[in-house]
Amino acid sequence: MPSVLLVPFLVSACQGTGPPPAADVAAPSAPRDMHSFARPHEARVTHVALDLAADFEARVLSGQAVLTIAREPGATEVVLDTRDLLVDSVTDAQGQSLTFELGPEDALLGQPLTIALPDQVTEITVAYRTSPGAEALQWLAPAQTAGGAHPYLYSQGQAILTRTWIPTQDSPGIRQTYSARIVVPSGLRAVMSAEMLTPDGVAVGDALVFEFRLTTPVPPYLIALAAGDIAFREIGPRTGVFAEPSVLDAAAREFVDLERMVETAEALLGPYRWGRYDVLVLPPSFPFGGMENPRLTFATPTILAGDRSLVSLVAHELAHSWSGNLVTNATWRDFWLNEGVTSYVELRIMEALYGAERAAMLEVLERSALEDEIARLGGPDAPDTILHVDLTGRNPDDGMTLVPYAKGATLLRLMEQTVGRERFDAYLRSYFDRHAFASITTPAFLEDVRTNLTGGDATLAGALKLEEWVYEPGLPDNAPAVESPALAAVEAGARAFAGGSPAASLATADWSTQEWQHFLAALSGTLSPSQLADLDRTFGLTGRGNSEVLFAWLRIAVRHHYEPAMPTLERFLTSQGRRKFLRPLYEDLMATDWGPDEARRIYARARPLYHAVATTTLDPIVR
Ligand SMILES: [Zn+2]
Repeated sequence: MPSVLLVPFLVSACQGTGPPPAADVAAPSAPRDMHSFARPHEARVTHVALDLAADFEARVLSGQAVLTIAREPGATEVVLDTRDLLVDSVTDAQGQSLTFELGPEDALLGQPLTIALPDQVTEITVAYRTSPGAEALQWLAPAQTAGGAHPYLYSQGQAILTRTWIPTQDSPGIRQTYSARIVVPSGLRAVMSAEMLTPDGVAVGDALVFEFRLTTPVPPYLIALAAGDIAFREIGPRTGVFAEPSVLDAAAREFVDLERMVETAEALLGPYRWGRYDVLVLPPSFPFGGMENPRLTFATPTILAGDRSLVSLVAHELAHSWSGNLVTNATWRDFWLNEGVTSYVELRIMEALYGAERAAMLEVLERSALEDEIARLGGPDAPDTILHVDLTGRNPDDGMTLVPYAKGATLLRLMEQTVGRERFDAYLRSYFDRHAFASITTPAFLEDVRTNLTGGDATLAGALKLEEWVYEPGLPDNAPAVESPALAAVEAGARAFAGGSPAASLATADWSTQEWQHFLAALSGTLSPSQLADLDRTFGLTGRGNSEVLFAWLRIAVRHHYEPAMPTLERFLTSQGRRKFLRPLYEDLMATDWGPDEARRIYARARPLYHAVATTTLDPIVR
């Protein structure tokens, strides 16, 4: 999400089209990123070269980061972000010690690392170790993996966690290229969000060394590492899948359309600028559905449904190769520019690949989830339903609700419908070209729309109500209606069932995953014990392997305290760590009169499985 811009890249990437992005963090006028200690207008990191060894027993990465610094005249120091890092030394390129100071600890942001910069110094080496509790890193014991024989490590940098394993300027507005040398025990493979220079590693003693480089500058939250028993299968000329060997077949089958997906995205958005596009299927504890790490999307195994019905998640992560990774939110309050644009593009990719009906179903599901989310956040006047959300003094994670995704996507759909698809598509492509490898603020985006989409047409601009969409809470009344005939039929079925029709009378034979999700979500009222048993017996819901369908059913089961599903609920909560599934289920449990003790008991068992991103959300819920 966050990124600062290198001037050389800015010049070359913009290809002389239009002015430099307004959000060049190097400019003194650039918005200050409240979630970083860095002062990039004085001295900023332009390249990170890592040399780290992974100690799986101590759960520590140790080694060094060599940082290339672009300094403005008069700069005397550079300020980095760190959190829970043990810094051993800081030296210049000649090995001379540099004076450094770790500032006071801020509970949210960590500690600034301020390093004196003598004249001429543009390269500094920080020798350091991570702490075993580094929040970006999850170290899994063999038993927590699919194969069960080897340990596993992965990183999750977004939003402000990269500073727990790399001492750098950890802001989405500060773009950096990177290279890395990663040492892991023999038998493991390291992969990163970068070009893999030694795919099989080079043996050194009883260790394997892997080297990487990424020559396109990215915000540091996109620097990502995983290591474990990881195998690879090619899918297309520039696409493939990485997974533990026992998961590889299923993953390759699920993502068979990957190459076609990249081609479809390119047809819509312009060239894919990152070289390869691979997907890494992680162990089940991964807290997100996916993370759009460049060249290598990290994905949860919970999307391996066996029928490719949940691959819209991959379309989403792929779309981030443009919205997010190429054009990046300048600060975390601009997060909707990453996620709203991406969620819109996701639907367009799904429409192109699988047809309008599938896309319409996804859009209807997203809209109804957005309505629920707005209610959960406090209703249409709640401040957290504002796209340009106020994160003062807050964890950026607090802004990662469905609002930036679904409300943001709805705004883009409105733009498309207002100006027409052809004109909007041309605009979208030009937007990515204009701001390639740069970061963008919300005001700069609105300016871009006024200049390049609506032009001087005040009527058009007025019809969009852009300011209301971006700066006001709730969903404006010009939000386009969404409809799916297939889901309307499903709703009718849900009403009939709630009204007393038996489950067997429903015409469910051809239902897709999305229809099942919608059916279960539509059963919002109170069902009798015999209705619950009828549903479960007729459709085998408690035994479903599809994570989305099972999740929707388990929410009903918790609400009604449907005892036969409780062992499955416990298994679901203790066998995967995706926050999207965990938070609602724990919240639902805590809201019942019988559930809090159960929630606490299950959480105590499951918590060691979960990533810190999930436990940070869940700890205050399950008390
Ligand atoms: Zn996303």
